[in-house]
Amino acid sequence: MQSGLMTTYQNPTQNRNGLAWGLSALLMAFYVDLYFTDHLDTVASALHLPSKWTFYGLIYTLAMCIGGWFMLRKHGNSAYHRWRTISLVAVQSVLGFLLPLVLDFLGRPSYYFSYFFPLKYDILFPGTLKDMPVAVACWFVFGSLVGVPTLVYFQGKRAYCSWICGCGGLAETFGDPWRHLSDRSDRAWRIEQVSIYTVLALVLVMLGLVVGDAYAADGSAIRDLAGHTKSFYGFAIGSVFSGVLGTGLYPLMGSRFWCRFGCPMAAILGLIQKFGQFRITVKKDMCISCGNCSAYCEMGIDVRAYAMAGTDIRRASCVGCGLCAHVCPRGVLKLETRAALGPHGKIEVWTLDL
Ligand code: SF4
Ligand code: SF4
Ligand code: SF4
Repeated sequence: MQSGLMTTYQNPTQNRNGLAWGLSALLMAFYVDLYFTDHLDTVASALHLPSKWTFYGLIYTLAMCIGGWFMLRKHGNSAYHRWRTISLVAVQSVLGFLLPLVLDFLGRPSYYFSYFFPLKYDILFPGTLKDMPVAVACWFVFGSLVGVPTLVYFQGKRAYCSWICGCGGLAETFGDPWRHLSDRSDRAWRIEQVSIYTVLALVLVMLGLVVGDAYAADGSAIRDLAGHTKSFYGFAIGSVFSGVLGTGLYPLMGSRFWCRFGCPMAAILGLIQKFGQFRITVKKDMCISCGNCSAYCEMGIDVRAYAMAGTDIRRASCVGCGLCAHVCPRGVLKLETRAALGPHGKIEVWTLDL
């Protein structure tokens, strides 16, 4: 049994009781303050930081470092969790915080090099690309359209969602204590499918409108529509859904509320994963139905049902965090890619130490 499993449900902050509600309210209040007031700009200037976004980046990175430390104390006995936690914290610290900070201090425009379209929804807007140096624009276009999709085809969503992405990084470190609170009902799965593809459709429509707008004449209807769609998306999805609710609901609905119900990138990467080489293999007739895997799946996947049926898991929503395999007392589950299978379909154990 892995460290921490026995006590999870006894902890008052991990149980959806009063303390968890209070914590959730505090997190939401912080995000409302961040997005909709200038109060944190004052705090930032007192700390000699360029803006409230730098201050937020600092808090975010610290939360990931501290959360990562606790994550490693709990699950660092596995090489997979050690390396992916180190990778997440390093990517956030260097690409998500230090590099933009240095660029800011040098008076250059700052970029978050680890975020791509459609998670960073305006990165492929013609107006955004036009203002970038050519090499930077190429990085974002290539990463969004070729780099990340190819990586995910071969390695699964985990390559981005559990090793690189800053949002996933916060969930895997700071949010780890609440991973067991994800709703595992069929109803939640149905809502997830509708919700996530709706956000994806919205982001694609918005991109179409903005591209159309770039060629539209002044005063055309498309210009108005593009403007309204951008404001709506920025407010409703970019700020409220991903920030206020996405992180604010950690203590009540698990650490991947945004990844599961809102992230448009998850929708695209999930489809690629479905047709790609990644899956979780199940050793037949080994499962004792203890339910640890389902309890600790942050994406609300009922892993036990697959294990009991002896069926490999190829769910689009799986972010490949590997916790299901890690907490399984019988070694039933294993994260695999097709390339990891030997010539006769035999699983090579060295590929991922889980
Ligand atoms: S689902 Fe979206 S926000 Fe979550 S880790 Fe993946 S890309 Fe990042
Ligand atoms: S199925 Fe396993 S690897 Fe996939 S998200 Fe759930 S716990 Fe993580
Ligand atoms: S797969 Fe492992 S963790 Fe999941 S129910 Fe079966 S024995 Fe338990």
